[in-house]
Amino acid sequence: MPTIFTVRTVKTLRHQLGAWRDHGARIALVPTMGALHDGHLSLVRLARNHADKVVTSLFVNPAQFSPTEDLSRYPRDEAGDGDLLAAAGCDLLYAPAGDEIYPNGFATVVNVNEQLGSMEDAIRPEHFAGVATVVAKLLIQAMPDVAVFGEKDYQQLQVIRRMVADLDLAVDILAGAIVRNRDGLALSSRNAYLSPEERQVAPALFKALQGAVVALNAGGAVEAVERQAHSAILAAGFDAVDYIETRRPAGLTRLGPGVIAEPARLLAAARLGKTRLLDNLAV
Ligand code: AMP
Repeated sequence: MPTIFTVRTVKTLRHQLGAWRDHGARIALVPTMGALHDGHLSLVRLARNHADKVVTSLFVNPAQFSPTEDLSRYPRDEAGDGDLLAAAGCDLLYAPAGDEIYPNGFATVVNVNEQLGSMEDAIRPEHFAGVATVVAKLLIQAMPDVAVFGEKDYQQLQVIRRMVADLDLAVDILAGAIVRNRDGLALSSRNAYLSPEERQVAPALFKALQGAVVALNAGGAVEAVERQAHSAILAAGFDAVDYIETRRPAGLTRLGPGVIAEPARLLAAARLGKTRLLDNLAV
């Protein structure tokens, strides 16, 4: 038995949240796909600081996986997740079945037409429509005062901010900093796919970004620094670099060429065996 209060339907979710709201509670939502780690739990703790009641949703969203991706082997452990959430101070787990999110005949897609063809969108063209649709749905189902997302998925965070602004959704979006292993590797549910050898190589992505941030802050030209980091990631044993890009932090518009003189975000994705790893750092 999970140790956390769990609901599985919109009806029971709204009933419980309505009762809390009637008592004046401010409500936070933390959307996740489960297989929780300390990165997710840090978002729950952040949510706690901004709300009276914290709801975590657990839904492995088929719409954000492409046909060639890892939906069926995505790690799942609802009981373990429930225990971690209870210990982190989450009040309610919302774990809907597929048809609670996508009932028969579901025909609506939320498309955020920003950053098209850029970074994650270039590699996974349907991905952000899947994310925006499910996040819109979860926000409308729960109507939280605050929703919390991780900077780990930095481009996703910008897509969600855009959607919330464009649709006048009455929710504050909060961002949690990336939680990392001691060796710098950003925590991710997908790290479980790495073989022991790949796990040794994986922190090289963070180290290359770290080196690039130092170089950019010292006045290095964007293109040269990105090229250098690209080579370092491959030299460390990664199989491919999908992208490494220096962008404006909000909206992720392009920066450069040459030396940059404003705050930026350095974002990268690289492949290690069958696993894609994402990371990003502030410049
Ligand atoms: P996921 O379950 O992978 O969809 O992630 C759910 C939320 O947790 C998203 O907002 C992610 O950005 C966030 N998240 C995932 N990994 C981390 C991490 N290492 N640090 C902070 N937030 C994270």
